[in-house]
Order: sequence, then C-alpha cells, then structure tokens
Amino acid sequence: MRKVLLESLDSLFAAIAAKNTLYIPVDTNGGAKFEKWQEGKKLSNALHTTKSPKDFFFPQSECLMKFKTEGKNIEIIDTRSESEDFAIFGVRACDARAFKVLDNVFLKEPVDTYYQNRREHGIIISLACDRPAETCFCGTFDIDAANPDGDIVCYKTESALYLDAKTEKGQGLLAAVEAATEPAEASEIDAAKQQITERLNRLPLADLKSDAFGAGKTDTYFNAPEWKELSEACLGCGTCTFVCPTCQCYDIKDFNTGHGVIRHRCWDSCMYSEFTKMSAGQPRLTQLERFRQRFMHKLVYYPENNDGLFSCVGCGRCVSKCPIGMNIVKVMKKLGGSVND
Ligand code: SF4
Ligand code: SF4
Repeated sequence: MRKVLLESLDSLFAAIAAKNTLYIPVDTNGGAKFEKWQEGKKLSNALHTTKSPKDFFFPQSECLMKFKTEGKNIEIIDTRSESEDFAIFGVRACDARAFKVLDNVFLKEPVDTYYQNRREHGIIISLACDRPAETCFCGTFDIDAANPDGDIVCYKTESALYLDAKTEKGQGLLAAVEAATEPAEASEIDAAKQQITERLNRLPLADLKSDAFGAGKTDTYFNAPEWKELSEACLGCGTCTFVCPTCQCYDIKDFNTGHGVIRHRCWDSCMYSEFTKMSAGQPRLTQLERFRQRFMHKLVYYPENNDGLFSCVGCGRCVSKCPIGMNIVKVMKKLGGSVND
C-alpha cells in the first residue's frame, strides 16, 4: 500500500504520465469526461463520467481496416496503432466490473482482437466511491464500491490518496512511480472503507434485489403483460445504451472513398428500429419488443450464458439520463415485484 497527499496528486499524475499515457476524469460543459492528463488538468470530483470508460477498449466508432484497390488488386491495410500501455485513473467500481461483462463477450472465441489489444495495453486504476449517488445500485449485482476491481485500487480520504496494487500490471506501475508516493499501512483506509459501506447501505436503492432475475427466467418474463406499460413511452432514442458501460452492440459499415474502402465499426442500439435488420426483414417490429430485448438481455439472457453474471452493474446512468425517466430499476421493480416464481 502506498499513499500520496492530495496536494501532491499532480506529482503522482506526472510520474504516471511519464511512463504511460494517463487519462483522468475532468469537468467539462457536458459533465465529467476522461481526458488525457497534462499539466494543469484537474481531477473531477464528480462520481461518474457522463459516458463510461468502455470507449477505451470498445470505442464509439473506429476504423477497423482499409482496402485499397488498384486495377484488380486489393490491398488490405491494418489500421491498428495501439502499441503502448495506457492508464485510466478514477474508474468507479461499477465501471470496473463492466469490463468483465465486456471481456465475456469480446474475449471469447472468436476473440475480438481490436478489443483484446487495447485490454492488454490498458491499466485500470480504480477509485472507491467515497460519495455514491442516490441513483447507484451496484450492490444489487454484488459489486462492492468499497472494494472495486482494478489493477490498482485507490481510496481518497480528506488528505490523501491511497493506492493498493492488485495485479502484476498494477504492481509494475506502482513500483515505477514509487518516488512520487510514500509507504502506507492497509489499516489507514479502514475508516474510509467503513464510511463507504455505511453510505452504500443508506442509499435509496440499497434494498433492490436481483434474485427474481437470472438464468432460466425467459418463460417467466418474456410474455409478461407489464412490458406494454413499461415500454409505452420509450422514444427509442438509445441514450440508455450509449451511456451504459456494458452495452456492447455494434454495426460495421464499408464506405467507398473512390480510391478504396474504409471499414468502420460504431456502437448500435437494440432500441433502434433498424437494429439487426436483415434482408428478410426486421426481427423486432415494435418498440415493446426492442425495449424487452434490452432488459431481458441484461437480466436473463446474459446471466444465462455467463455463469449468472448480470450485464447491468448498477451505475445509474440510465436512471439519470433517460429523457422519459424510464430505466432498469423501474423494470426490475415492476417485473420482479409482480411475478411469483
Ligand atoms: S443498465 Fe443502466 S444502471 Fe445498468 S449498467 Fe447500464 S446504464 Fe448502468
Ligand atoms: S428507455 Fe429511455 S433512454 Fe432508453 S431508448 Fe427509451 S426513451 Fe431512450
């Protein structure tokens, strides 16, 4: 365990940045956002970034490859450029667990080598939630905001930042910036952890349970009459999927530049009417079906295929961002509270 006084945080960031490109959450007009650290950038006090850190490994849009045509010859150009390690500081417990959800999708055969490459180069420095928000419910999915996942786990107290390396990658980075830190005892953060746990227990959604959901519940919920009322006002705007740290749907398109072709991948949303449209037509014709798909996937289908792991991490972003005030909490309360299984 190491620590650094908060007034010397910039020295720590400078030491990390000297070794790896470093990203930290900073305040912007659009809310907190991860940006590359450089002298003068200040760490945001916001609990969450507006968009989650999933962009680092699964960017909102990316060029996958290019094809150059000359006569009958086609040259395939690999556009991958990541070759250096980078560190993301300030990842919250929910977002840190979301990487596990994404790993189960992108690192299973067939492995997504774009995602894999970034994961191998990324170092996660998580930050325990000393001030969880009223919209948080990570505990519903067995995530402990006082003990986040991460290569290095940090705790912020009134006066210092404590750093605890949890993986080989984390130990390597912490050793490399040792001069910017000082030794600390694990017991120095006991009170901070205790305080986080007490705050988590007092949150309005602290009692929300996931027990009614999970593997084997498709028949229980698929035809539930509640979907009609729940989905009625949904605008199909996709905001909930774009702010979600675990949503992983994407589309791939080719663009002809006149001299060749650029292949792009960009996020897609199961809430959109054209999502997974095929030559045979659209598999989900109504917003009710699309809405149901999103929540059934998070609460039933994904855990069924991933040893019970839910693909919601209770970050609360959809709770605060949906323009009509609909969200997974309301879905869980409505369905889980009305079905005896
Ligand atoms: S469904 Fe909502 S609360 Fe759950 S992880 Fe996604 S944005 Fe966060
Ligand atoms: S649930 Fe809300 S945020 Fe999601 S698509 Fe519908 S209106 Fe948009």
